[in-house]
Order: sequence, then structure tokens, then C-alpha cells
Amino acid sequence: METVAPFKEIVDEVKRAGGDAYRLCYQCGLCDVVCPWNRVRDFSMRRLIRQANFGLIEIEDDEMWRCTTCGTCPPACPRGVDQIALGVSLRRIASEYDVFAGAASSLTSVRANIVQDGNPLQGERSERADWARELSVEPFTEETEILFFTCCYLCYDPRLKKVAAATADLLDKAGVSYGILGEAESCCGESVRKTGGEDIFKTLARENIKHFIDAGVKRILVSSPHCYHTIKTEYPEFMVHFDVLHVAPFLLELVQQGRLEISGEYAQTVAYHDPCYLGRHNDIYEQPRQVLAQVPGLSLVEMTDTREQSLCCGGGGGRIWMDTHKGERFADLRMEQVRAAGAQVLATACPYCITNFEEACLSPENEGLVVKDIAEILQEVSTEGQHAQ
Ligand code: SF4
Repeated sequence: METVAPFKEIVDEVKRAGGDAYRLCYQCGLCDVVCPWNRVRDFSMRRLIRQANFGLIEIEDDEMWRCTTCGTCPPACPRGVDQIALGVSLRRIASEYDVFAGAASSLTSVRANIVQDGNPLQGERSERADWARELSVEPFTEETEILFFTCCYLCYDPRLKKVAAATADLLDKAGVSYGILGEAESCCGESVRKTGGEDIFKTLARENIKHFIDAGVKRILVSSPHCYHTIKTEYPEFMVHFDVLHVAPFLLELVQQGRLEISGEYAQTVAYHDPCYLGRHNDIYEQPRQVLAQVPGLSLVEMTDTREQSLCCGGGGGRIWMDTHKGERFADLRMEQVRAAGAQVLATACPYCITNFEEACLSPENEGLVVKDIAEILQEVSTEGQHAQ
């Protein structure tokens, strides 16, 4: 087994992905100052960049799998280094050598399942639309306006199927013309790409795009900010363009248009967590808060690290598939902030965030705290609007 990738290969790949980081990075370490890892243990993006620039990366080094691609460090860099692209390029090299160190060892089985059944959760492809079986969700046809691209967690994860059902219920109440692709849908491929599986990503993207085009899809609604980012900003690499909507701003539109009426109360103190790929990566901060602000009885509070400074849940960059030791989980820090803000409910709009925060809620100190997608909160208090179409 190779332990050190050849010097030239690393330097070439780094240049391809991240530009001339060797010239740009002057090792100031500001990226490390803002990196959430340094709140729980040592981690140095600066050091990784230096090693990469000199071709000295050991591809068995666990460190290259830590970055969650949260997007906190690029704005802090005075030299414009694209640390995320650079980190992903190292993972591509490790993937080519089939070396998955430490926590990344789980990637082998995850990728096998994605290749075989189009999802990382060991679900059968034939079960992809099971979440919708008892609901009035229709297959997408040429007459349908919006494709609800559920992606894997909402299709297979028992907790997140509830978010899929809540979203479908809200779309029904608002009279939205929507449908799903069912078994024809595959993982959007975001985490595969971030963990270096470029070829698998391209295969998934091409399959999805083919199904979108064959079905006549023009508008795509997603619940995951990771799908949102990928389909909106990365699928255009395949010379296609779809109108991609994240459910949070879309729900706000439905409420503002009177298609959803909020008739109930939600008498809870709620903190809203900005998912990295909705906030920092796509600048959607206000609409989810505006949805929550419409709900009578709901008291919205802010946590210490909010909006552009939001604390990553730890699930991006494929880390959702990797084990993170107790004591090193960002989600535990975030739940401390929820308690400090006096909130009873943590609302968010991302399946990875919900997964990680609910796991943190298993700790005794978080007993009684509840994690909800904003669609679930809205479902509890809304009815069909007067202008439902
Ligand atoms: Fe290099 Fe930019 Fe990090 Fe400074 S902030 S060490 S210049 S990548």
C-alpha cells in the first residue's frame, strides 16, 4: 500500500483544484483561528496546505478527512486560498489510491451502497419512495410544476422521513403541484464529491440530470442545503440549469402568498441554527427566521454563533458518514449554546444538522431539548390557505 503519494501528483492536483496555493498561502494561520475543530482539538488547515504544497501529504493521515467544508475559513484568508477545494483535492488522491484512513474507513461501504443502490444508508433502491406510500404524494409527470427531490436521508432515515412527510403535507395544504421521481432518484452526490469520489459523483449527477430532463423537470425543491448547493451550483458543470428552491424560502413564499395559513400557536422558545450550506455557502439567513417569526406564540432567540459565524454541526464534507469521538463533536458545543440561549427547541433546515443535534440530545444535560426542521414546526400550526391553488 502506498503511504506517500508522489510529490508531483499532489502538487499538480492541488494546483488544479485550489490554484497556486503555494504562492498564495503565507502561513498566517488565520484559517486555524476560526476553524471549529480548534474548539475541540488541534487541527491545522495551514499545516495541511504547507504539506500539500511541498508534496509531503501522507495519504494515511487521518487529518485530511477532518474538514467539514463548513466554509468558515475562506472568508478569513487574506490571500484568497480556496482551502475547501484544496482539501478535497487531497481526498481525491487518497481515493485514487483507495486509502481511507481512520474515521474515513467507513467510506468504503458507504460508496459501495451508493454505487449499488444510489444511497449511503444501506437502503434498497426499491424502498426509496416507501416514505410516501401512505401519503398523497404523486409521481412527477409532465403536468407537474415542481419536483420534490427528497434525496437519501429523507427517504431512508426513520427520523427524517418525518421531515419528508411534513413537507409533503405543507405542499398539499398550499395546493402546490409537485411530484417525486421515486426509484429513479439517486443521491445528489454532494458528500461523495467532498470525500474525493469524483467519478462516482459525476455518475450520480449524470443519472439524476438524465431523469430530470426525461421527466421534463424545470423547478426542483429540496430539503437539504447540501442538495441545494450541489444541484444549483455544481450540476451546471454538466451544461444544465434548473431552478432550485430550498424549502425554507419556499415555505415563506407560500405563507406570504396566503397559500398556507398559520392558525395555531407554538408556545416555545426556539433558537434557529444556520446550516453551513444554507447560510455561509448560499447566503440564506433571513427567510428561515422569517418563517418562524410568523408563528404565534413562538419566541425566537439567537445563539452566540449565528448567521455568518454559525457553528457547524459537524456533518458536512462527508463527516456525517464518519465517527467523531465524544468530546470532539461540534454538535455538543452547539447544544450548550442552545441551553445558554434559554431555548427549548432548536430549529434548523438540514437533515445532517438534525441527525447530529439529535444525537447530542441523548446526553443527560440536553434532556428535554427538542430538534425540529422548520417544516415540522410549520406543519403543526398551519392549515390550507385561502389562496391555496
Ligand atoms: Fe494560508 Fe490563508 Fe490559512 Fe493564512 S488563512 S494560513 S494565507 S490558507
